Amino acid sequence: MSLKFRKHEKSNDQKNKSQTCDIEDCSEPIFQSISVSNYEKALLKIGLDVKKERILVCKKHHKQIRKASKKDREIERIRRGF
Ligand SMILES: [Zn+2]
Repeated sequence: MSLKFRKHEKSNDQKNKSQTCDIEDCSEPIFQSISVSNYEKALLKIGLDVKKERILVCKKHHKQIRKASKKDREIERIRRGF
């Protein structure tokens, strides 16, 4: 399953609202800010094409991104083993 980012940047008139996850259709509160350069492959793997330096994600999506990046590292370790 691939994820999508919200199509529009949050506008300034929403500054009074509490921020929510950057993933489209997700309205969970922000859990953590992620540096895109550290998770580029993982983000692409789950279908996210990120145009920003940092993204703000909820706990659920943070876990999903971490999980995808972990798999990535494991595959590379196996490849190096050969
Ligand atoms: Zn989310």
